[in-house]
Amino acid sequence: MKGLKNGMSSVSRRNITQRLVVFASHLPSSSSSSSDSTSMASEKQAALATAPSDADAPTIFDKIINKEIPSNVVYEDDKVFAFRDINPQAPTHILIIPKVKDGLTGLSKAEERHFEILGRLLYTAKLIAKQEGLDDGFRVVINDGPKGCQSVYHIHVHLLGGRQMNWPPG
Ligand code: 5GP
Repeated sequence: MKGLKNGMSSVSRRNITQRLVVFASHLPSSSSSSSDSTSMASEKQAALATAPSDADAPTIFDKIINKEIPSNVVYEDDKVFAFRDINPQAPTHILIIPKVKDGLTGLSKAEERHFEILGRLLYTAKLIAKQEGLDDGFRVVINDGPKGCQSVYHIHVHLLGGRQMNWPPG
């Protein structure tokens, strides 16, 4: 069958690899002083372990939207879904995604037809920031491609807050 080898699709293998790396990053590190760099390295490994997907290839986020995989949902409407990141990089770390990917594996794939959903994702970030009480500021991030440390190829806005952010980012 097309896309299947040894009973498992390449998408499944990619999802499993990615999830193993994310879960590995949850394990306690041997040295507390290295936990930040360990976490950053794991995020990078997850990104590099994930090849950019075809526009229609399902990702772990499809299972989250369909509630086949549980998540901590903070916002949902007919177009947008938002849930807490499994590996938070700040006290508040929320992922905001379109329910229908429509070819938007990442921002680099955006076309004019995506104007409305892209604006809606950012506006939703503002609504959730308010809902989360991030009145003193927050950060939104969209990672794109391997060099941008993207690990899930379904466009998503990271909303981070609850601590002082630094600049430049890593
Ligand atoms: P990216 O690296 O692509 O910009 O971000 C993907 C994010 O998805 C990561 O921050 C990662 O922790 C998060 N993530 C991956 N798998 C899951 C999952 O199963 N549940 C949740 N809640 N977040 C996930």
